[in-house]
Amino acid sequence: KAYTKDDIRNIIKDENVQFLRLQFTDVFGAIKNVGVPVSQLEKVLDNNLMFDGSSIEGFVRIQESDMYLYPDLSTFMIFPWSTDENGGKVARLIADVYTAARQPFAGDPRGNLKRVLSEMTEAGFKNFNLGTEPEFFLFKLDENGNPTTELNDKGGYFDLAPLDMGNDVRRKIVLQLEAMGFEIEAEHHEVAPGQHEVDFKYADALDAADNIQTFKLVVKTIARQYGYYATFLPKPKSGINGNGMHTNMSLFDETGNAFFDETGDLQLSKTAYNFLGGILDHATAYTALTNPTVNSYKRLTPGFEAPVYVAWSGSNRSPMVRVPASRGNSTRLELRSVDPTANPYLAFAAILEAGLDGIRRELEPTHAVDRNIYLMDESERRAAGITDLPDTLLSAVNDLAEDPTILGALGHHIAEAFISAKRLEYQSYRQEVSAWELDTYFEQY
Ligand code: ADP
Ligand code: GLU
Ligand code: MG
Ligand code: MG
Repeated sequence: KAYTKDDIRNIIKDENVQFLRLQFTDVFGAIKNVGVPVSQLEKVLDNNLMFDGSSIEGFVRIQESDMYLYPDLSTFMIFPWSTDENGGKVARLIADVYTAARQPFAGDPRGNLKRVLSEMTEAGFKNFNLGTEPEFFLFKLDENGNPTTELNDKGGYFDLAPLDMGNDVRRKIVLQLEAMGFEIEAEHHEVAPGQHEVDFKYADALDAADNIQTFKLVVKTIARQYGYYATFLPKPKSGINGNGMHTNMSLFDETGNAFFDETGDLQLSKTAYNFLGGILDHATAYTALTNPTVNSYKRLTPGFEAPVYVAWSGSNRSPMVRVPASRGNSTRLELRSVDPTANPYLAFAAILEAGLDGIRRELEPTHAVDRNIYLMDESERRAAGITDLPDTLLSAVNDLAEDPTILGALGHHIAEAFISAKRLEYQSYRQEVSAWELDTYFEQY
């Protein structure tokens, strides 16, 4: 919503908001916030709220640490669960990060996405619409309120209570999100025990990324109220499906959905095919951003409805990109590799840049794969032009480091902070000796 400063002053008075939270996202996707009492409202509205950027991961060094928060007024929202004992409410604003010299900070993922979106506008498009399907697990809490590794139920896809013990939590999550202005399209139990999904309507890239951050906060907050721990970790348990965050995408221009063409092959436009060409061409490089943790690569394995190969299909769900059946304004590409540990601002910037590059270079996608890729052997896959997604974080980061287009979508500051941190993260993982290694080797050697 387009709020003015006066709108916000009025709502704060009428609704008895006593506290404001200014939120932003660090390079690794964590939401950060600073709280101020409502007495500081004018300072906030005048972009004068400062914080120490050197304490935020991937931001700046100590000697250049003063930063400003510039709130985006359209993101103003009252947390429906927040009323304190005196009736005072808590509201939040999402902010962009500015340097002490009052320039947009190059290390701010949200500001960086805005930069990439302006390239899209120059290329003649109006919106990059994104509809995500974040999945999560509910685990039980122990008597001290700490998460356990015990799932909340034994349900499966679309099950009903009592097999589905997530009904009430999900309904509450939906109601709270609706109170915060989300349009919820569906909620259901997912395939794995304890796994759930709530889908909300697509939005333009910046709002879509903001919405994901808000969504995760709401899910985790409400789950806790019901005695559960919600996790978006891609593969919290081996042997069952992991958490994906399928990302449906389309470009709109002045006349509507630029991916739709009634006369095109599969009713897709040349723009859609070229965008898809770019998505396939840069896939291994942006995977470091869409799947940024060691654990992400435990999900991208055969047999669990998650993709393993770079390919697309007009119908089946095994490849990385699927073209859902709807046409007209709902014409879209579904990227199925993304998982919910992705920093949405970085992942969307990278995906968009990949697609725009495809349009610039008029890349043609490889042939659609309409059979189950998991039943093809390696030589059949090669013959069909199907390549592999990276199988470890390290390999993904190395591919990213060699792709100037995707690096450009991050800018120098973020690319450097991200790549060096992820290499360290992988080294730290590599030094650990896992239970699997002991089980498999200990008594054999
Ligand atoms: P699935 O078929 O994978 O189960 P869902 O129906 O769960 O898909 O989710 C579809 C998602 O796609 C929703 O978030 C929806 O808002 C979104 N969507 C619909 N049309 C578009 C579009 N034109 N561009 C981007 N996303 C879209
Ligand atoms: N959980 C699956 C994944 O890891 C996706 C299941 C689905 O199709 O919704 O991507
Ligand atoms: Mg799903
Ligand atoms: Mg889907």
